[in-house]
Order: sequence, then structure tokens, then C-alpha cells
Amino acid sequence: MAQIVPGVHSIDGLDHPIPTVGMVSYLIEEKPGDYTLVDTCFACSIPTFESYLSEASIDIKDINRIVLTHLHPDHVEAVNALKKKTAAKIYSHWIEAAYLSHELQYNGPPDRDALEHVLKLMGTSIDIVTEKFGNLKVGPIVIDGLLKDGDKIGNTLQVIHTPGHTPGHISLYDKERRILIGGDILFNSILNTDGLFVPPPVVTKDWQTSIVSAKNILNLKVDKLLLAHQSTPILENAQQMIEKAVSVATTQKNTVTK
Ligand SMILES: [Zn+2]
Repeated sequence: MAQIVPGVHSIDGLDHPIPTVGMVSYLIEEKPGDYTLVDTCFACSIPTFESYLSEASIDIKDINRIVLTHLHPDHVEAVNALKKKTAAKIYSHWIEAAYLSHELQYNGPPDRDALEHVLKLMGTSIDIVTEKFGNLKVGPIVIDGLLKDGDKIGNTLQVIHTPGHTPGHISLYDKERRILIGGDILFNSILNTDGLFVPPPVVTKDWQTSIVSAKNILNLKVDKLLLAHQSTPILENAQQMIEKAVSVATTQKNTVTK
């Protein structure tokens, strides 16, 4: 847990059902006493989240916005509980909002069989996981503000629609500081894989589109890439690392589709 650059806090150490994956939320100071939180965590990690805030002398009631990069439970499960503790309004891409509010039923991966398989490979089981994290199902979330590509949120963050992992997945770009908060657009050195990589089809609704989204962020000037699942934050040379990850995924895609 650290302040990565002045006003950008990385809240890591949040629990995840799959070993090694972890979860990182980001807290952006818009001005003194006004914060934007990007993604939450599972409700069981709220005490960890709150202890970071108290160490950093941040009042939870100063969180005025919670932006959800996408609908997966590890990013949103605690949002209804955190809404009660903060003064925050909840934001997501308009496509994702339809699923988060349960207006539409989401039928994308990961499915239960795949999850069980991955948990077994990582030396745990669905029973152990549900004991701590509950049934991994998320109740309806009321979205207060619908976002689209190009919108500004807070003082500095620009919404970039990066679909593929889920249909309404977004990243948040701070142009001045050349920071991209990328949600699950890429993973960094988790799941026994070294380096930056495009999340695999087993957790991704439309893998080919997700590769295009990762490629498109190369059009932005990005030095620092802050992901939800990373062994370490990428604080320099993000551009070259993204290029390499896109190139590896493109080769894999061409091999699969041949
Ligand atoms: Zn995800």
C-alpha cells in the first residue's frame, strides 16, 4: 500500500479467491477532502481497506465517487457496503450498468466449472473460497452516473472504453501524469505467469476484442500502468511492456484461429 505519486494511492493487499491474483483499488485525491475510488474489493477486505485509509489519515466520508471498471465480483462486491460508509456516487460505463443493476443478466466467463478448475490448480477449492468470500454472487448495484468513452470524471481522469474482458470495461487515463488505471485490461505477473499479459479467454467475454483494446491504449501516452491484478505496479516504460503483451497475444490468437 502506498502513495504511488502525490495524490494517487494504491490500496493493495485486498483478498482474492484465487491465490496469487490479489486485488488493488486506487484512490485519487481530486482536491483536499475529495477523493475518487477506482474499483472496490470483496466485502471481507473492507477492514484492510479502512486500515489503509486511517494510516493515510483519509476520512472514508471524503470518498465522493466510486468508479467501477467492470462488473466482475472482485471489483464490485463491496460497493453497496462502501456506499453506506461514504458519501460516494457510483459510476460505470453505461453498458456495464445494465448488468450491474441486474436489468440484464450477465452470462460471461468465468463460469463455475472453470473457476473450480483454476482453484484446484492453485491448490484450493470452491468450498474453502465460499467460506471466506460468500457465494461470489453480487446483488443489484444502483449506478448513479453512466459513463461513455471520452467522459471526464473528477479533475483528471478520462474514461477510455476498453471492451473485451467485459462489454463495458473501462480504463481511466490521467493525461498530464501519463497514468492509466487499466482495471483488467492486462494482468502483471500473477497466476504463475511472468510479466504483463492479456487476461486469458477463461476470464474474458471477447478475447479478440480485448487484444484490440490493449493495442488501442498504445495510442495514449502511458508511462505508469496501474492494474487491479499485479505483483508490482508498472511505474515506467509501460508503453514497451504493453507492446510486447499485445504482440504475444496476437501471435496466440493467430495460432488459435488458424
Ligand atoms: Zn475482471
